[in-house]
Amino acid sequence: MDYDIAVVGAGPAGLALARALADTGLRMVLLDCQDEAHLADPPVDGRDIALTHLSRRLMEQLGAWARIPADEISPLRAARVIDGDSPYTLDFDNDTGHGAPLGYLVANHLIRRSLYEVAAPLDRVDLIAGAEVVSVSSDAECARVELADGRCLSARLLIGADTRFSATRRQMGIGAMMKDFGRVAIVCRMQHELSHQNTAWECFHYGRTLAILPMPGNASSIVITVPADLAPGILEMDEAQFNADIEQRFGHRLGGMQLVGERFSYPLVAVHADRFVARRFALIGDAAVGMHPVTAHGFNLGLSGVDLLATEIRAACSRGGDIASPTGLARYQSRHRLATLPLFHGTNEIVSLFTDDRMPARLARKAVLRLSNHLPPVKWAIRNKLVSRGHVGGPLLRLLP
Ligand SMILES: Cc1cc2nc3c(=O)[nH]c(=O)nc-3n(C[C@H](O)[C@H](O)[C@H](O)COP(=O)(O)OP(=O)(O)OC[C@H]3O[C@@H](n4cnc5c(N)ncnc54)[C@H](O)[C@@H]3O)c2cc1C
Repeated sequence: MDYDIAVVGAGPAGLALARALADTGLRMVLLDCQDEAHLADPPVDGRDIALTHLSRRLMEQLGAWARIPADEISPLRAARVIDGDSPYTLDFDNDTGHGAPLGYLVANHLIRRSLYEVAAPLDRVDLIAGAEVVSVSSDAECARVELADGRCLSARLLIGADTRFSATRRQMGIGAMMKDFGRVAIVCRMQHELSHQNTAWECFHYGRTLAILPMPGNASSIVITVPADLAPGILEMDEAQFNADIEQRFGHRLGGMQLVGERFSYPLVAVHADRFVARRFALIGDAAVGMHPVTAHGFNLGLSGVDLLATEIRAACSRGGDIASPTGLARYQSRHRLATLPLFHGTNEIVSLFTDDRMPARLARKAVLRLSNHLPPVKWAIRNKLVSRGHVGGPLLRLLP
């Protein structure tokens, strides 16, 4: 046997799992098709990730949080949701009782870099960059991985962490529920004249949504979601026109606004695997659950799933048992599905309600916002999810469409 664990995908989820198991003495390999330079110092990809308190704690335990420069972490102190052209807002403020922010915003490339820095140097972890996995399989004895260059590896346990469109998931015979929203998220950074006061805005305008997320300094992360056919027009829009368009759509609340760097786009497809495990195999990260970003659950769920799986593997190690035992894998699956399935469906429902521009949906949205504002238990439940440090989900109404 070449390895105890082989992980396909050295994205944030794969790296986090390798680091979480560092103290077990297991021999692991991380395989990724990207080259070493990209993995070690990932380029800006336009995604700014809202992290919960639980995620912060998990990142701290992994030693990764301390590697993110403090001045690159933006605390989120309040959130406002508006619908259509109405000035009415649903408000979430920092009245948690312990002065904690609602969450934190960090650029995705910094999360990836910090996790690389804590996982790649581990003695018992081999990170093979430029390694495209072309096929995987398993039997009662071991799992096998074949690379595009013809190399073959074997391991006691195989992990699929290879994006929401995971090929390993399919090759292991696991299907997935997929919801293609037919929309695209366009993301970029903008600087502005006025302070954002660490407040995030989610604006459900008719036909499109606009999220403005507070980043360090007078800068915000902008997320525009539109039907896919409208995306090229926005991506190619002349910079001055783009600046003026966002400024006007946001009601000039931040004064003059200016694009910084590139605009990036992501197709909006949500995925929930039918099973998270198979023989000597488990899915983690987006390969298990790829969320629509509106509720900001994606990587938060990825990290909590890694924590659940690592707990099972560690327990098997300390018992001297099989790290790929069907019982341990089944326990991981049932706990992670319990946490993710309601959020997956709930998020998709929110997206459907807030992107439906027919009159009944518009009225329902206004009712939902008013009801949520006037029902303290609803707001309390949402805020509690945001600041919780335990395995109980993450931000409910975040801020990205
Ligand atoms: C616009 C946007 C905003 C988001 N905002 C948030 C947010 O606010 N909060 C939040 O929690 N989440 C958010 N997310 C989700 C978050 O970005 C993802 O959940 C997270 O990046 C997934 O990490 P991963 O490691 O599972 O997968 P990935 O980051 O997709 O990494 C997968 C890795 O697998 C490798 N790979 C794929 N196929 C192969 C192969 N055949 N062989 C070898 N290697 C392979 C790839 O090269 C890649 O490195 C957002 C996502 C988007 C698109």
